[in-house]
Amino acid sequence: MQMKNEMTEYERKIKRVAISEEEIAAAIKKAGAEISAEYEGKPLLLVSILKGAFVFMADLCRAVTIPHDIDFMCAKSYYAGTESSGVVKITMDLVHEVKDYHVVIVEDIVDTGRTLSDIIKLLKAREPLSLKVVTLLDKPSRRLVDFKADKALFTIPDFFVIGYGLDCDEKYRNLPYIAEYGE
Ligand code: 5GP
Repeated sequence: MQMKNEMTEYERKIKRVAISEEEIAAAIKKAGAEISAEYEGKPLLLVSILKGAFVFMADLCRAVTIPHDIDFMCAKSYYAGTESSGVVKITMDLVHEVKDYHVVIVEDIVDTGRTLSDIIKLLKAREPLSLKVVTLLDKPSRRLVDFKADKALFTIPDFFVIGYGLDCDEKYRNLPYIAEYGE
């Protein structure tokens, strides 16, 4: 039987808190205010890429004080070696017609940059009024394609993070902070 104060395997893998709830909340408040000022009076659509960005989207949309629509998409990009093939398979598409909107993609983390650069190609072909990317986390040292988010709330070194929507084998998405994951 497990002792009450013994750490479980699940808990042990949460190595340390990398970004606290308070730091995340403050950065989102600032980003929400900036987006609100930039798109005031314009038709704005926030697009979240599932699943990792769902928590960030929930908090960011509430920090955006101007009227706006939200939508979700699920997409997987395919690679040949380290090169992006530019082929994105959409497993769940947007409901909105992006032509009518200034689109802001809300992403959890930019790592190699391949997924987002493919999604951007795909959405640009649908001719939105404008297209920008806001990411909660950025790992620039891991980049394999030339990609830069318009707004990155936190830049982190090359370690695997979990929490605040980000998973490891579908677990840990419910942590309210960003943590470093380790065996
Ligand atoms: P990219 O195409 O930029 O390499 O892939 C980005 C995706 O990889 C993210 O949306 C996320 O799902 C996953 N990813 C990259 N780095 C991490 C990480 O440190 N932790 C987690 N949980 N997912 C990551």
